[in-house]
Amino acid sequence: MNMKLSKTLSTLLDDPRLFRQYAYVDGKWTHGEGGREEAVFDPATGEALGHIPWLEPEQIRGAVDAAEAAFVHWRALRADERCERLLAWYDLLQAHREDLATIMTLEQGKPLPDARGEVEYGASFVRWFAEEGKRTYGDTIPSHIPNAALGTIKEPVGIAALITPWNFPLAMITRKAAAAMAAGCPVIVKPAGETPFSALALAELAERAGIPAGVFNVVLGEPAEVSKLLCAEERVKALSFTGSTRVGRLLLEQCANTVKRVSLELGGNAPFIVGPDMDPKEAAYAAVAAKFQTAGQDCLAANRILVHESIHDAFVEQFAERMAALTVGNGLESEIDLGPLIHRQAVEKAASIVDDAISRGATLVAGDQSAAPGPNFFMPVLMTGVTPEMKVWHEENFSPVAGITAYSDDDQVIEMANDTEYGLAAYVYTHDIRRIWKLLRALEYGMVSVNSVKMTGPPVPFGGVKQSGLGREGGITGIDEYLETKYYCLGALGSVSGS
Ligand code: NAD
Repeated sequence: MNMKLSKTLSTLLDDPRLFRQYAYVDGKWTHGEGGREEAVFDPATGEALGHIPWLEPEQIRGAVDAAEAAFVHWRALRADERCERLLAWYDLLQAHREDLATIMTLEQGKPLPDARGEVEYGASFVRWFAEEGKRTYGDTIPSHIPNAALGTIKEPVGIAALITPWNFPLAMITRKAAAAMAAGCPVIVKPAGETPFSALALAELAERAGIPAGVFNVVLGEPAEVSKLLCAEERVKALSFTGSTRVGRLLLEQCANTVKRVSLELGGNAPFIVGPDMDPKEAAYAAVAAKFQTAGQDCLAANRILVHESIHDAFVEQFAERMAALTVGNGLESEIDLGPLIHRQAVEKAASIVDDAISRGATLVAGDQSAAPGPNFFMPVLMTGVTPEMKVWHEENFSPVAGITAYSDDDQVIEMANDTEYGLAAYVYTHDIRRIWKLLRALEYGMVSVNSVKMTGPPVPFGGVKQSGLGREGGITGIDEYLETKYYCLGALGSVSGS
């Protein structure tokens, strides 16, 4: 087992073996047979952290072979036995929280406290689904057929391919993998090329937890090539993808030929609605929290801030004041609120979204880019007078760019909020119960959070409507994405009296 360590990472980790520069297939650390490699960079410094191999198509098929073989034994374990292995994995994630957070901050850029929070969040799904695996009940069906017993049992769907993004490099994997594995399915994870090291650290800890070879695999390679192969593979029965709506549509199409079970967690364009009864300061502070998490690179980020005209000016003042206090810098340093964006293209996209809005009449309230501490950093921007003609209204800007729009009544704000192809999450701030109920019912979103920025966690059915996705992750239904319902009819049982 080779261990090439990047200087930065090797000196920063308590357990350097968590940093792996290989794919993980069938319980083995695997290099690419074609010799193709890609560098992975620290977005804060631009320094190369290490390299990952790109596997050849035959090696990806090898991962499917391994998962197929592992499925036989993994599904045959009792649910409580799988639970024990997953809980051991959970314990290791907790024990290595600090190293996992350091790896995440280095490859993704988010501030260390946020990375620690993500490890905690990601681990919590492992514990949740470890337990949920023991509750995959079938049903007893009152029979309409004479002398028969009817019912259902739940069975694992089979091999699941999991394709994940870079903004939450650990939790987006565990939220899927723990559900699939608890249900009895082996998984093949294809993490984002920008953030593979968190996925590989998960593999190292899965091995230490006694998860058998072939049950948790991490493949690396050219994204379109690997995904196409996994979607075309008949033996892969489920695809779960988190990422952009653009790629989600492509994968859905590619899965059609093999009629896979497809779950999609796609983009968002969250409205943040502030009612006229709100204290502008309270609402503005909440909006800042909902906007700038992970430097705005969050599917739940408040993308369009819709404020009642009666408190608009006071809200803008409070928002600007709060935003000015945010610190921007390398996530490894203390007291940092916003790390870098993931790469230069993300910075260019943010700048073009601001330019587009200003050229169409928005007012730039704050956002001086000359203060950015490096080429991948983007200083928080606040604009007012945002309108539906602007990109910042329709596109998921995935950056620390906040746009505010004034509205005059509830019907207008409902129309504004629903004016998007996305339907992931919406925020509502008001204490008026009639308004809460009206908005809750009218908003075309999978998740609506009222007077709370925090809305996620293991018990929650996370997911979107419209073009934000298919299916739900977490909660009591999250495991269903990896289960088939088998109906049985036991006929010719004889009558109860025996006659
Ligand atoms: P992305 O769609 O570019 O990439 C996601 C994954 O798909 C990565 O593993 C990537 O390597 C792979 N990929 C990229 N291009 C591909 C292609 N042509 N064919 C096949 N696979 C390909 O998304 P991203 O930029 O990594 O992540 C940001 C997006 O993820 C945002 O839209 C965000 O809203 C979304 N997201 C959604 C949720 C959710 O739960 N709904 C959570 C986090 C992120």
